[in-house]
Amino acid sequence: CGIVGYVGSQSALDVVMAGLKRLEYRGYDSAGVAVLADGGLATAKRAGKLVNLDKELAERPLPSAVTGIGHTRWATHGAPTDANAHPHLDNAGRVAVVHNGIIENFASLRTELEERGHTLASETDTEVVAHLLAEEFSACADLAEAMRLVCRRLEGAFTLVAVHADQPDVVVGARRNSPLVVGVGEGESFLASDVAAFIAHTRDAIELGQDQVVELRRDGVTVTGFDGTPADVRSYHVDWDASA
Ligand code: GLU
Repeated sequence: CGIVGYVGSQSALDVVMAGLKRLEYRGYDSAGVAVLADGGLATAKRAGKLVNLDKELAERPLPSAVTGIGHTRWATHGAPTDANAHPHLDNAGRVAVVHNGIIENFASLRTELEERGHTLASETDTEVVAHLLAEEFSACADLAEAMRLVCRRLEGAFTLVAVHADQPDVVVGARRNSPLVVGVGEGESFLASDVAAFIAHTRDAIELGQDQVVELRRDGVTVTGFDGTPADVRSYHVDWDASA
């Protein structure tokens, strides 16, 4: 129900958790985060309120990191359990993805992946995206391109945000029939389902258009269509009072 992504120089975990707290009002049943650190991927996720995730993070701290993503889930496919909470990973544990919405054709994609030897660990529609991204990334070594290729195969409504351990300075987002906003800071960039998640850091925003993919780096963002053509970016300044 809420999505946050960050790449910059602050603690990604602090920025992402604060952002998720700003989105709590939307309601959710589980929460999770992933950060890129030390050449790998570290995740924590828990059913229930963010306080459960806070507790988990206190007991099992994640390594410090400047790239991360987070999610609050409103379950549509699979019960609200720890295993079904996002992020979802590929079998090698190199890619993490969070998702709002529904992937309508997930069942056939799941069958196809299982036939190619993938083992799926959750009951969600979301997990297929992590496995598909891993396959595409292994061929092109570019997460934004992998996301474009995967999105062309998806049906339904989705906001997707992903990271890959082999591209530790990049966060990629995509959207179709579901909102995703980019925040452009100085030496840091944000992604969220709602500007409220990053308004404490920047008020320069870009609204992602329908069927677009964004590649987020600390020094800027690149937006394309699912077919790879560069997109016209519509930037605006958020001038409402966030503390209201
Ligand atoms: N369909 C996904 C799930 O059930 C995402 C739900 C959401 O929007 O939070 O896990």
